[in-house]
Amino acid sequence: MLTRDHLAALDRRDPLARFRDQFVLPEGVVYLVGNSLGALPRTVPQRVEEALLDHWGQDLIRAWNRRGWIELPLAVGEKIGRLIGARPGEVAVADSTSVNLFKLLAAALELRPERRVIVSEADNFPSDLYMIQGLVDLLGGGCELRLAAPGGLAEALADDVAVVSLSHVNYRTAALHDLPAVTAAVHARGALVLWDLAHSAGTLEIDLGGCGADLAVGCGYKFLSGGPGAPAFLYVAQRLQDRARQPLTGWFGHAAPFDFDPVYRPASGIARHLCGTPPVLSLVALDAALDLVLAADLGEVRAKSERLGDLFLELVAQECPDSGFSLVSPREAALRGSQVSLAHAHGYAIMQALIARGVIGDFRAPDVLRFGLAPLYLRYVDLWQAVQALRQVMAEEEWRAPAHRRRGVVT
Ligand SMILES: *Cc1c(COP(=O)(O)O)cnc(C)c1O
Repeated sequence: MLTRDHLAALDRRDPLARFRDQFVLPEGVVYLVGNSLGALPRTVPQRVEEALLDHWGQDLIRAWNRRGWIELPLAVGEKIGRLIGARPGEVAVADSTSVNLFKLLAAALELRPERRVIVSEADNFPSDLYMIQGLVDLLGGGCELRLAAPGGLAEALADDVAVVSLSHVNYRTAALHDLPAVTAAVHARGALVLWDLAHSAGTLEIDLGGCGADLAVGCGYKFLSGGPGAPAFLYVAQRLQDRARQPLTGWFGHAAPFDFDPVYRPASGIARHLCGTPPVLSLVALDAALDLVLAADLGEVRAKSERLGDLFLELVAQECPDSGFSLVSPREAALRGSQVSLAHAHGYAIMQALIARGVIGDFRAPDVLRFGLAPLYLRYVDLWQAVQALRQVMAEEEWRAPAHRRRGVVT
């Protein structure tokens, strides 16, 4: 039987406990959506204000050189690279995850010109599938999408596959792919692999270099806490960089943007994967957030994440038996990302009732309640508060209130 005292004792021994105060969090709220919009690090407002008032305000256009704005996409990329096992010069920060996926898929098809199939999974993040569909349409028969059946990746890997595009952690179920094993299996069939690390970067150790991964993209605003709409990142293994070309050939990817040459020539290295002018203020926010994320030991982050997930599930079983929830995530922590998901026929209204009680999770159609577990600012006792709120919502049937059934645009 788990008690609040048991959880409070875990907080006292938590090696990551000191990180919570480094984030702005509203009083009384339990925030379980760090997997979708990471909380605000305390250092960010000051860094952004400095960039606004001192750099933009006073230096004006001179800030591009003086304040290193021009370096930010690759400098911030270096920091992300340390989280994902990249070497210097393998990561850039630019655009959105969706756009980066498009750029790198196109590059991958060109790297395997004799093959024309892109493999993905039907339950991949829809935007990833949409981007593949857009690329297939654009290339007018030049390539096709093959969706692997659940657990059927091996069968989908025929000799016609150019690239396999997978999310490391499934956004709905939190199921975690074995990144090294899948990478090896894809390579054994002569294809490239493109990992979407949107839900995993910053939550566990990833060694893209060590397992020979080819390409990756990921998100700046989820566990990395870069802020709403933070720019995304992309990774291209060094050995592919001379040959990897992407189709959005804007001036920031040119070898010499300020020569204003009318003919495009790609920059060498990762810089050719940039496109247009970088979003400086958002990059400054992400840069500041990464300093905080990098100060944590990823082994400790992962251990706490697994424990938070296990305890949450134990608490739900203990406090809300017979409430009609079914587990969507893998029960075994090693097979999950930093999230647990439960399904319920009244999932949307239940989540709204929870939010009304200050326990903020989110909902994914058709019936999934998602609880993101950000180990840097979530306390073990927060799980107690969250599950007590859930118990009350279910026991009192608070979710039946009409207000909780009205859908917002963002769920
Ligand atoms: C969040 C997420 C994205 C986000 O894409 P944007 O273009 O940045 O909106 C993409 N892929 C996956 C797997 C995600 O979880």
